[in-house]
Amino acid sequence: MSNTKITIIGAGLAGSLLSIYLAKRGLAVDLFESRDDLRSGGAARGRSINMALSDRGIAALREIGMDQYMLDAAIPMHGRMIHTPAGDTKLLPYSGRKGEYINSISRAGLNAALMTEAERHDGVSFFFKEQCTGCDLGTKELKFASGRMTESDLVFAADGAGSALRQSLDANVEGFESHSDFLEHGYKELVIPPGDAGSFLIEKNALHIWPRHKFMMIALPNLDGSFTCTLFLAHKAAADSDEPSFDKLTDEAKLIEFFEREFADALPLMPALAEDFFANPTGMLGTVHCSPWHADGRVLLLGDAAHAMVPFYGQGMNCAFEDVRTLDSLVERYDADWSVVFSAFERERMPNAAAIQSMAIENFYEMRDKVADPVFQRKRELETRLEQTYDDYFSKYSMVTFREDLPYSEAKRRGNAQDELLMRLCANAAQIDAEDAIELIRAL
Ligand code: FAD
Repeated sequence: MSNTKITIIGAGLAGSLLSIYLAKRGLAVDLFESRDDLRSGGAARGRSINMALSDRGIAALREIGMDQYMLDAAIPMHGRMIHTPAGDTKLLPYSGRKGEYINSISRAGLNAALMTEAERHDGVSFFFKEQCTGCDLGTKELKFASGRMTESDLVFAADGAGSALRQSLDANVEGFESHSDFLEHGYKELVIPPGDAGSFLIEKNALHIWPRHKFMMIALPNLDGSFTCTLFLAHKAAADSDEPSFDKLTDEAKLIEFFEREFADALPLMPALAEDFFANPTGMLGTVHCSPWHADGRVLLLGDAAHAMVPFYGQGMNCAFEDVRTLDSLVERYDADWSVVFSAFERERMPNAAAIQSMAIENFYEMRDKVADPVFQRKRELETRLEQTYDDYFSKYSMVTFREDLPYSEAKRRGNAQDELLMRLCANAAQIDAEDAIELIRAL
């Protein structure tokens, strides 16, 4: 087994984590990463600076003994803090149960910690500034933009949403299918800097949302007291419509006027708004679909390379980490019979990835439109009460975010049925008896 030459393309979150799991099984791994080592310089501008780590991701870190280490560097977020256009705020807890919250963590910090941990194991080698351009399944060759060529028995494609390996399989493997669906919305990262002595200028332990129906802004806290804000807005809107869009915000005056109208409470906290807005790229938001996820028992796609999703459930990384954990359990179960492992991985993960991909799109509309809706707010309040009172009640959000034991597909099936019922109840009655509601849910 240890003579097998293993290569991982992409030393991002999934690739770095996978190298640790493989190294723990005594396997030597080479990782090729197109960027420079992020520990030696700044992280790339425009990638999300912080992200929400939750139970599925924590479970994967726990198995390599890094969960507590990473949680110590994270900020708990107990709920969504809704900011109305008038500047009022309201906290909607993520769960009625104590200890169920999500964690804001630095992407670069997490990635760097995983790389450093990987390097502590014999046989793990990183090669930076090596952009893979494709693979040849016949000759086992991997090609790089630098001109480097290397042979590998097994290749794990962890090279993210724009995966070169996925494109290579698409071009060369008969029957391989791949397409991406993009939202009409893009995103732009902005900053609320820290106050005096690193203080937090808005509530520290919350994920802030400014829902405005056709667009929204969110903000996650960083350890230095700052918040990373992300504006989600349509790339383009019809010129004759009143809808705002990135292409209409062409100068500082238009940008400030837009923020004064829509995010008046945030604007005074963002002194570098115009500078950040015009310097930072506008990102695309897409969902990647492809099939199969493996070829010839030799190449396996995982993480964003296999199933990138829009970020509205905060699950892309958590799902990629769960991929790695599942893969490891299959390596154990099938004694590293790789083609069996790869087929089993695809069978188990594909329906679950599809479920969280579609829930992530649904959650975009929930965060943007519904969180401001009084019926939805009543439903969240009822759900909090149910979670406080009944051990067997979990909202859909809790099933996705806090139940590492429940597959995404099951969370979706149960969650959607439950959501429909509760929305109906909350639309029809101002006062709802929790006991009646739980009985109806148990009967579902
Ligand atoms: P990546 O992290 O993208 O890593 C891929 C790596 O491969 C990169 O290092 C890249 O440089 C490298 N690479 C690319 N091409 C090549 C090549 N040809 N050769 C060699 N190397 C290559 N997820 C959450 O769980 N919670 C969140 O709160 C959250 N927020 C998000 C916010 C935004 C705005 C976005 C866009 C995403 C968010 N996500 C979140 C999703 C998360 O970022 C991804 O799901 C996660 O990064 C996937 O990890 P990965 O390792 O598969 O891909």
